[in-house]
Amino acid sequence: MKIVAVKTAVVEANYDYTFVRIYSDSGVYGTGECFFSPGLTAIIRDLSPVLIGKDPRHVERLTRELRRAASGAGAVAGYAHNAISGMEAALWDLVGKHYQVPIWQLLGGQFRDHIRLYADCHAGEGLESYGPALLPREPAWFLREQARKGAAEKSNSLTPEAYANHAMEVVARGFDFLKFDLDAIHGRPADILTRPLTSAELNLMTEVVAAVRQSVGRNVEIALDCHWRYNLTNALQIARVMEPFHIAWLEDALPPESVDGFRILRESTTVPICTGENLYLREGFKPLLEQYAVNIISLDIQKTGGLLEAKRIADLAALYEIPVAPHNISSPLGTVASCHVCSTLANFMVLEFHGQDVPFWDDLIIGPPKPLIRNGRIDVPTGPGLGVELNEPVAREFAKPGEGFFEG
Ligand code: MG
Repeated sequence: MKIVAVKTAVVEANYDYTFVRIYSDSGVYGTGECFFSPGLTAIIRDLSPVLIGKDPRHVERLTRELRRAASGAGAVAGYAHNAISGMEAALWDLVGKHYQVPIWQLLGGQFRDHIRLYADCHAGEGLESYGPALLPREPAWFLREQARKGAAEKSNSLTPEAYANHAMEVVARGFDFLKFDLDAIHGRPADILTRPLTSAELNLMTEVVAAVRQSVGRNVEIALDCHWRYNLTNALQIARVMEPFHIAWLEDALPPESVDGFRILRESTTVPICTGENLYLREGFKPLLEQYAVNIISLDIQKTGGLLEAKRIADLAALYEIPVAPHNISSPLGTVASCHVCSTLANFMVLEFHGQDVPFWDDLIIGPPKPLIRNGRIDVPTGPGLGVELNEPVAREFAKPGEGFFEG
């Protein structure tokens, strides 16, 4: 069996859902999804000749060849790994279909057949869409949703009441694990990295989390994301004021490279500390783990180096008694790929769901019963490969202008 073509398609959702499809001369193809980045489909196109003519069944060797071919001749970080992660996942789907087994079977078998998800709730309202440089944009579906929801919700979205109301809505949809953006209370100021957090801002954070905790009770988990926006002093202050609220984790309170800072933060609070969505390969996680700098790691399976590399990172974390709660902003196809990995992990905690406000999210795949997420869980498919296929008419309807749709 030989690889004969590599093609891409991009759906303009809350982020660019970037799909890569690898075709073999046997007629079987596999589809993977990459975490967005500037220039992503060009990177995939330029890396593709590495795969053409090769046997897709040797996934690990091909992945290593892609890493060697990428910029920096094997650099252990950077956008090239976003591309390689989706290409590797496409190979697993292809190989699973060829041998008629699910990806989780190829990765060593299951610890569980359903995956718990946490609902990312943003701030008090959640509708958003960002381009590859993380600048806000307004695709047609976004404007329709905005009109449907009304402008009033947005203007009041950062009050404790808005956070609490949003939390109750999401719990009513069946989720028992939520995440909110704690740093959203600042809006989008440019100066938050260079000035101290004010006591008024700390008070508002406390009121927001107290309101959410009171609204959902003690049986729902609450995680809080800070998006790398604070210095160590402010991160410590935030962690301390969150201690009474039984928080599942405080995510990315410090910049991603701050291993010593995370270690000091973890040692200074009872709130579990989490980071990892910016890190690539086992090399990226090794310092964090060796120093016990965090309580939980949040690797991104569509970015960190591939499905097998994600499993290896989780296995490495398990040596340090550290669980994994993977970051995930992908379409249902990438989410299902993540579920295959998570089902094989001894130390899996919970997987992110970031598509609540994308009205066509569930429609983007065919195969499993809908809705894909029921009671905050996904049943891991048992069919060959991913066990799901991209719904091409729907994907084409929301395709990003200027990008090919599995062409070339
Ligand atoms: Mg995050």
